[in-house]
Amino acid sequence: MPPSGKKMIVAGNWKMHTDAQSAAALAEQVAGRSAQEAGQVQVVLAPPFPFLAEAVRRARAADQENGRQCVIIAAQNCHEEEQGAYTGEVGVPMLRSIGVGACIVGHSERRQYYAETDAAVGRKVERLLQHGLMPIYCCGEGREDREAGRHREVVALQLRTALGAIPGHGLAKVVVAYEPVWAIGTGLTATPAQAQEMHAFIRAELRALAGEAATHIPILYGGSCKPDNAAGIFACPDINGGLIGGASLAAEPFMELVRMARHAQSPA
Ligand code: PEP
Repeated sequence: MPPSGKKMIVAGNWKMHTDAQSAAALAEQVAGRSAQEAGQVQVVLAPPFPFLAEAVRRARAADQENGRQCVIIAAQNCHEEEQGAYTGEVGVPMLRSIGVGACIVGHSERRQYYAETDAAVGRKVERLLQHGLMPIYCCGEGREDREAGRHREVVALQLRTALGAIPGHGLAKVVVAYEPVWAIGTGLTATPAQAQEMHAFIRAELRALAGEAATHIPILYGGSCKPDNAAGIFACPDINGGLIGGASLAAEPFMELVRMARHAQSPA
């Protein structure tokens, strides 16, 4: 995929941060500024569950004011079943009913602290596709796997287990986020060369799973991505933007990353 004109997405994962007031204010600021600053870059915000509905309201207000969709509001997780006796869980139809348009699944923190498996994450991806929400599927190796040179193997197994049963036309609607676990929230970042190598590998794996339908699947990089290291990463040909944790909790630097993604899309 040539770097010029490539699809770019910048997604903010707020994790378990913000409160009702700060979440609403941040959603409003980012949505309003995205209308002016994002160009063709797709901006996605993933607030905590209790603040999703208000974030959707603020985003829709910005859409109306600007006559275009400014941001997509995403959840940070969902349950794989349609509904049922799953105390404390949130189903995809619930998210859809309040205007949520996307959902992060398989984040390494969910894998680590809640023992999520790729099989379960794959079912979440299918449920999201069934209801027309955009899945943002996270994969990535841990530090030990990277040091032992097993990073490709680990990520290939994640992709095959979670996405292997999804038909090509479904897979074409998935966004993949490559997030090396050793880089998340640690201040360590993959070098552009390390990230590009893994993104090209992931793209080849996706093509092996779903053929040409997979060629244009956006693959985001995540892991301590900030304005001072994003330029080299966003410029890589197989990197379609970022999944941003810490740097998404304030309008600047998040909007700076959006502008950098825009520049990477059309560097002229
Ligand atoms: C993340 O949690 O998806 C993430 C990339 O976090 P951070 O940017 O803080 O490393």
